[in-house]
Amino acid sequence: MLAVHGGTPVLAPGALAPWPHVVEEDRRAVLRAMDEAVPWHWPMTAVRELEQAWGEACDMPYVVAANSGTAALHMAVAAAGVGPGDEVLVPADTFLASASCVLQANAIPVFVDTDLATFAMDPARIEERITARTRAIIAVDLNGLPADYDALAEVARRHGLVLIEDAAQSHGATYRGRPAGGLGDLSGSSLNGSKCLSALGEGGLFATRDEYQWRLARRVMMFGEELDGQGRDYNARMMGWNYRIDVLAAAFAGSQLSRLGEMTRQRIANGAALTAALDGVPGIRPPVVPPDRTHVYFFYPLLVRPEDLGAADIPVPVFRDAVERAVRAEGLGIMRWQPQPVPAQTLFQEMRGYGRGCPWTCGHADGPHRYRPEEYPVAEEICARRLVLGQTFSSLGPPNDEAVMLRVAEVFHKVLVDERDALLSMARADTVTAGR
Ligand SMILES: *Cc1c(COP(=O)(O)O)cnc(C)c1O
Repeated sequence: MLAVHGGTPVLAPGALAPWPHVVEEDRRAVLRAMDEAVPWHWPMTAVRELEQAWGEACDMPYVVAANSGTAALHMAVAAAGVGPGDEVLVPADTFLASASCVLQANAIPVFVDTDLATFAMDPARIEERITARTRAIIAVDLNGLPADYDALAEVARRHGLVLIEDAAQSHGATYRGRPAGGLGDLSGSSLNGSKCLSALGEGGLFATRDEYQWRLARRVMMFGEELDGQGRDYNARMMGWNYRIDVLAAAFAGSQLSRLGEMTRQRIANGAALTAALDGVPGIRPPVVPPDRTHVYFFYPLLVRPEDLGAADIPVPVFRDAVERAVRAEGLGIMRWQPQPVPAQTLFQEMRGYGRGCPWTCGHADGPHRYRPEEYPVAEEICARRLVLGQTFSSLGPPNDEAVMLRVAEVFHKVLVDERDALLSMARADTVTAGR
């Protein structure tokens, strides 16, 4: 019997270990930073070590640590030379910060629809969005799978655009052998506690190949001041914020980064094991991994497909919610991520921005701009059908291993194969209720 109807859940509490995976080394690294840190000597050792190690990990010579991924992305957009009224292409299905970093630079996000297989920006849909004002593309490695960078770089080159990578979900992944974080001209990534490279609390990393962009990013990070190692002159050269990372967060992230390679290998093995074990379970589409890249499963996204169960009469949202409820009752953390494409959010529907419609109405933008969710049908379909595992609540990271993934797959075998009739009757009853 389904656990949602009173049966015994497949998974007992604690069957999956949460993320991040904290070990003794991490604790020692944080304590060491506490003992060594000297207030007001920025950057402190743990911060410099983190920057250096991330530069090596993602093959980028210039790195600046920041206090969030959102800050690192704003630094990237500013360092790329994007200014008021410029347009930046962003995938329609991503986290808000991939687009709001553009608004933070007083520039205009222009959305591009997503590819159903990879959940990344569809390179074939980019050129129709390019105008004389387009300056950059922000590609997002959604779920932990790199976007199609060779195709994106080709479009960027043809149109003279800067290619920015949002690597917030993809630390450790590779595209054609090259590491995430180093796949565009610049990148911003997040060290938020849930991410594949975690600061436990908050943090971010900016990276570039260009020394001048690196200097600009550092100014944005610290009040617009020039950091030359000679102490501060308290002279803001440009608009800047306080985006400095906390030294304890940097120490934790640095310690985790020293194990990123082995943690990534386990993530990749876990994802492969789960996908193999879900073979023959109808009604859900597991993630697709093109052979030229690796997926690190920040999220393990599933697209529900009632039509594959001969249940096309059940509306997708009703079926999705029934699966979510049933799976959760079996003891597995699952959730609906973004319920709608980013351009459908109120910020873009009302276009108030900074107030009085800026930056859209500031006089620097060509316009009029408008955000119509129906222009992004693939993103809408993904948002309607998507449920995700992963992150902190059903982590594919270590210490969870392939044996744990087999237990995870048992949940779906129970809900969608063994107890399929019970699930479908529950969903059909919900359909009637939803229709009333
Ligand atoms: C988490 C995330 C961000 C923002 O990072 P924060 O550290 O939370 O500010 C940006 N883009 C994507 C795709 C993310 O998942």
